Amino acid sequence: MMSEKRKSRRPYFAANWKMHKTRPQAEQYFKVLIPLVKDVESEVVVCPPFTALVTAVEAASGSPVKIAAQNMHEKEKGAFTGEVSAPMLAELGVDAVVLGHSERRQHFHELDSSLRFKLPVALDAGLEPILCVGETESEREAGDTQRKLRQQVQDDLADVPDERLSDIVIAYEPIWAIGTGQTASPHDAQEAVSFVRALVADRDEAQAKRVRILYGGSVKPDNVAELMAQEDVDGALVGGAGLDPESFAAIAAAAK
Ligand code: PEP
Repeated sequence: MMSEKRKSRRPYFAANWKMHKTRPQAEQYFKVLIPLVKDVESEVVVCPPFTALVTAVEAASGSPVKIAAQNMHEKEKGAFTGEVSAPMLAELGVDAVVLGHSERRQHFHELDSSLRFKLPVALDAGLEPILCVGETESEREAGDTQRKLRQQVQDDLADVPDERLSDIVIAYEPIWAIGTGQTASPHDAQEAVSFVRALVADRDEAQAKRVRILYGGSVKPDNVAELMAQEDVDGALVGGAGLDPESFAAIAAAAK
């Protein structure tokens, strides 16, 4: 019997470049990536810094690769020096936006109270939000993983209408696994991701069956298959290994 996952959820892989790559480097990346992913069954998304978004949108045009920004402000316009809004990103041809990445939460004091506003604003602008949630190492050790996930998922999605929940992609990223080379075990990833799905089901069961939930944290070509073998893991948000187009293409091909 075909699993629920294969029936209703297309695999999704996103490469978060963080603060890396100039525009010429971005162009070069897409020249290598696009031929490698043109036939993969997954959705393939690249998240460049703001300065390379236009280059990326142009380089990916006519290909199946989608482009995501790494953050946005919740207001449409105003006196918010250094920020960009959802309509500004949509105007560039950007498809999606990462929201609540742990580095935004940790270094830039991103709060759930502001993510709650950002999610519906992104959807209204036609951007696909990629919402990141996850626990710190000390929260995991204290047995607080589920409490943290419940609080983040419930607060961040509070203003998203039930019927739009599956228009969001959620990335479960245990903070202790990001950029550390330490990956959650496939069992722990499945446990946390299925818990996140159950939280969405508390709002709407049909939406929970459709919503894509990714794992993120030191995903590489050689560990992605065992993570993708888990029933609830629909893809990956990739940092370090996503900087190299060949390794990102190898990760995106793992959905087979
Ligand atoms: C990330 O930045 O979201 C991430 C998962 O990074 P890495 O793959 O390098 O751990």
